[in-house]
Amino acid sequence: MIFSEIYDEGRDKVFVMHGTIEVRVPHQFYAKLSRKYSDEEIVSLQEAKVLRNHYTHRELVYITRESGIPLIGHTAFGLIDRGTNLIQVRPVSGCNLNCIFCSVDEGHTQTRKTDFIVDTDYLVEEFAKLAALKSDDVEAHIDGQGEPFIYPYMIELLQKLRKVPNVKTISAQSNGMVIDEEKIRAMAGLIDRVNLSVSSLDQRTAQILAGTKKYDVEHVKNVAVKLLEHGIDVLLAPVWVPGFNDGEMAKIIEWGQSIGVGRRYPGFGIQNYVRYQFGKKVKTKPMRFDQFFEKLAVLEQQYGLKLKLTPADFGIHRAPALPKAFRKGDQLKLDLVAPGRVHGEMLAVASGRVIGVLTDRPVGSRVSAEITRTTDNVYVAKTGS
Ligand code: SF4
Repeated sequence: MIFSEIYDEGRDKVFVMHGTIEVRVPHQFYAKLSRKYSDEEIVSLQEAKVLRNHYTHRELVYITRESGIPLIGHTAFGLIDRGTNLIQVRPVSGCNLNCIFCSVDEGHTQTRKTDFIVDTDYLVEEFAKLAALKSDDVEAHIDGQGEPFIYPYMIELLQKLRKVPNVKTISAQSNGMVIDEEKIRAMAGLIDRVNLSVSSLDQRTAQILAGTKKYDVEHVKNVAVKLLEHGIDVLLAPVWVPGFNDGEMAKIIEWGQSIGVGRRYPGFGIQNYVRYQFGKKVKTKPMRFDQFFEKLAVLEQQYGLKLKLTPADFGIHRAPALPKAFRKGDQLKLDLVAPGRVHGEMLAVASGRVIGVLTDRPVGSRVSAEITRTTDNVYVAKTGS
């Protein structure tokens, strides 16, 4: 076990594994244990310790098969099946950036309280079961509420997904900041496409949009070039935020064309900034979708590109879906087994699904709840008053 950092903070000895997982052991235990055990042994022991996401400093819940938490049912981790040949694979939550438009309120957040990380074998075994229900052209799309590449076992995940019989395509989303050349070399031949979110080529504007001075647009540009050099296709995915990066779309297209993005898939996926209820709110007037599509049409004309994309442009089609375990209105008795992703939410397990339960009761409580959301096998329940 190699620690990327070891330091003391407050009452804890902190061990950072693979740059992402913080294992915090209270000094009072560490002092006693270190007389007898090595640091590696202390971190492996089932003694009092707390896991945190090193990027977000939030509590980190490790989801393993033994945890008893299923991988279907929540949008923060696991698998999402929206009834097509594309399965969303979410190995980790939490982000290294703080984009001012973030739809999942990542970075400096008012709403998120917990992050999750999923054991690779568990994730791939459950993925394979789901993929077996579908056609022989499954796309494994690695995304999540945050930056997927903070997952410390990404290469192992890609290697194992590649071995799932009916997987045809593997793609992932990234902001590019935690990808380096070594990772790109290791990913060559394993991943088909990276959707890279680049919202401005101007360093100052890009940092304003990313919400952090740590953002380095030259690094991200270099990542795009290196991915292409290693045979990995790139889709550039800027978020168009009116008043912030209006002039950048044309520049991103011209730069993307110059480096040759979009070899096998569309090269540009421009997204309209949408003010979501639980996302970050930019002080701007969002564009209506008809205005947005008009502007895309002008760029399409100018650059001879298709920018208004549909799932079919990526080979995505309907495919058998996992049956639902509950219906809206179902009344359940649920045991709360883990903290939820947001404040006022806990996780429960029933009928092979994980359910986000809106409650202030602690882990270990039993609550009566009503299922209020079932779309795409994502479950939310609210407790009675
Ligand atoms: S990179 Fe994505 S997840 Fe991270 S803060 Fe920006 S928009 Fe949110």
